[in-house]
Order: sequence, then structure tokens, then C-alpha cells
Amino acid sequence: ALSALPLDELTAQRDQALRDYEALVRRGLSLDLTRGKPSARQLDLSAGLLDLPTGHTAADGTDCRNYGGLQGLAELREIFSGPLQVPAAQLVAADNSSLSLMHDSIVHAMLGKVPGAERRWADEPRIAFLCPVPGYDRHFALCERFGIEMIPVPMDDQGPDMDVVERLAGGDPQIKGIWCVPKYSNPSGVSYGDETVRRLAAMPTAAPDFRIFWDNAYAVHHLTDTPVEIADILALCAENGHPDRVFVYASSSKITFAGAGVSFFGSSPANVAWLLGHTAKRTIGPDKVNHLRHVQFLRDEEGLAEHMRRHRDLIRPKFDAVEAILAKELGGSGLATWSTPEGGYFISLDVLEGCARRVVSRAGEAGIALTPAGATHPYGDDPRDSTIRIAPTYPELDEVELAISGLAVCVRLVGIEKLLE
Ligand code: PLP
Repeated sequence: ALSALPLDELTAQRDQALRDYEALVRRGLSLDLTRGKPSARQLDLSAGLLDLPTGHTAADGTDCRNYGGLQGLAELREIFSGPLQVPAAQLVAADNSSLSLMHDSIVHAMLGKVPGAERRWADEPRIAFLCPVPGYDRHFALCERFGIEMIPVPMDDQGPDMDVVERLAGGDPQIKGIWCVPKYSNPSGVSYGDETVRRLAAMPTAAPDFRIFWDNAYAVHHLTDTPVEIADILALCAENGHPDRVFVYASSSKITFAGAGVSFFGSSPANVAWLLGHTAKRTIGPDKVNHLRHVQFLRDEEGLAEHMRRHRDLIRPKFDAVEAILAKELGGSGLATWSTPEGGYFISLDVLEGCARRVVSRAGEAGIALTPAGATHPYGDDPRDSTIRIAPTYPELDEVELAISGLAVCVRLVGIEKLLE
């Protein structure tokens, strides 16, 4: 580790790092690693959707062009039922964004009591959510939007620290929810262990209307041949006497078209009836033509898995490149650690405490755009200032390689400067 070097050697290393950085800036790069978007080549995998559907009639005779069918096409719900661990009868297929379903769930909970609630959330003196960190910035933005206080909870390689979750949720009736990305989490790549899932389902909560926002955005987004399987939260909640505790979300945004996919909500019969009751006021039905073409394109669960393997073939080399470059440039330096995800869309890079903002800003000056440091934490505040989210899917492979090599130069420079402070 560089921290073990004598001062003169470290100073020499710093001078070299500075020269490398200046050379990097002179290259005038313009690269973007900010958002976890599918690349154009990934979107091309679903080009067939643009020629579908053939016909317009669903299996039960529904004319998909017309109004109605609030819960979404049954045959589409069948395809996703297994991967999302929700019985098709308890699954809703909606329009193109699961984030909007999460948004609407909160709005409906504010304005109309969720099953089991004593009052509407809008009538509560204070509402708080537990936020495992690092986490997804748009979850945190939703909380800010609705004045929901955020309480960070540390994560380990099995998910959120359950001792902390149980203590907080068990003691404070104003804590109404927890954000969970249970598989290949954004951004750490962590998948929840069975015991974590069981404890989430079983724990006593002070709030009778506590909800787990189970955002299974990466349920089928495997990077390896051995897909991670997580425990069945919906069944475990029911078995433990809390059938209404979990709201499951997912979408095909990173399966077919990010802007024109299908989103899903799964939960207990009571919660599904609650959501659909409110949804009926805002729409007469979802885009069933899109549902039908997704059914015809994906066919069945195996068709979905096959399609995801094609995605993997495109993105795996990018994840491998990040790993190889970070290992070569920073391995053994003691300046950084990083995740090696088995699925999902992100790699989480942890630099020395107090360095993430400086690294992101140095990279920005060198033309490498990174997600703002702190975005992985509530209120944009990473108290250790050390986590950087890397999103390698969107740029082409050679751009990923350039960007990560450049990022490594920044990490090295800022890290050595820190050691010299
Ligand atoms: N949830 C997580 C954890 C995500 O990472 C993303 C996108 O990056 C989304 C939800 C967005 O989902 P959708 O496109 O269905 O709104």
C-alpha cells in the first residue's frame, strides 16, 4: 500500500501522478459514465418490438386497442410472475416506468390510507423511510419531493444491517417504509441474503402500515451463468403474518426499451386492490398494445432468459474491462476498493475517505463525467465522501476503457495528495 511509503517516495509518486493527470487533461476527452442506461446496441436487441404486435387480440379475446384491463394483460403477467416471485393474479402490468409506480404508491399512501393504516400519511406529523446506503438517488429524490425524512442504514454483503433496521422500525411508528433493491443492488451490486429477507418479513414494526418498497429492478439482469436467487419476500411476509408489508416493483426498461417498456407492481390481494382502486381514477387502463407486443416478443420465461443472455453478452465485456483496469492501475495501492457485481448495471468504487468529491471533480475537468459524489446517499451527503458510482453499460467498450483508465489516474492523484496532507 502507498501509505507505507517513506515521504520522499510518496512525493515522487505524487509528482508522477500529477504528470499523468496533466497528460490526461491534454487529451481533451469527452466521456460519460453517469447514468445506467442501455446502449444503442442493447436497444437494438429489441428492434423486433417495433414490428409487433401482429393482430391486436389478447388470449382472452380482449381487443388491446380499446380501453380497460386495468391490471394489464394476463399473459404478460404470467411471463414475469416467476422471475418476480409474485403470483400472476397479484401482479399488475402497467405503463413504461416502475419509478412512476413508486411515485404513485407514495402519493396514494399520502392521500388514501394504505391497508392497515390508522390514518393517511399526509395526516401524520412526520414520515420517515429507512434508506440502505449506498442506494439509488431517485428513491431519495422521491422522499425529498414528498417531505419524507430519510434515515441511512449501512449495507454489508448480505443487504442492510438488520440489527439497525429492526431496532429503528421496531421503535418508531413514524418510520413507514424502507427502500430495498434486493438483487444486484444499485450501486453496490449486493444481493440480499436469505436471512436478511426473512428478518425483513418477520420483524415487528411500530407502524402498523409499514411498507417495504422492494424495487427488484435487476431481477433478471445476470452477468454470470449462475443467476443469484433471492428469497421470496411476498411469501415470507404472508407466512409471518404481515401479508400487506411489501410492495414489489420492476420493469422491462433494461430488458426491452428503457423509454417504452412495461412496469410491474406486485403485492398482497388487499394492496393490489388498494392500488388499482386509486389507479382507476387516473387512467381507464394501461397501454395494452405495448403489453401484447412484449408478450409476442418475449414469448415466455425462457424467451425472457434467452433475451437477457444477449444483453449479458454485450455488457459483460464492459464490466470485465472496468475490473481489469482498476485491478491493474489501483490493485494493491490501498487507494480504492470496488465491487465485482454478478449482475445489474453498476460498479461501486470506494476511494479514501474525504476523496470522492475531489476525484469526481478532477475527472470532470479531464472530460470524464461521473455521477456526482454523494448521489448514492440521502440528501446527497455521503458522510465519508468515499463512494463513486460507475455505470459502464452505455458507452462503447473502448470508451469505457478510456474513461476508467482516466478515472484511475484521478483516484491515484487525489489519493496520494490525501496521504500527503
Ligand atoms: N429502480 C432502480 C434501482 C434503478 O436503478 C432504476 C434505473 O436506473 C429504476 C428503478 C428506474 O426504473 P424504471 O425505468 O422502470 O422507471
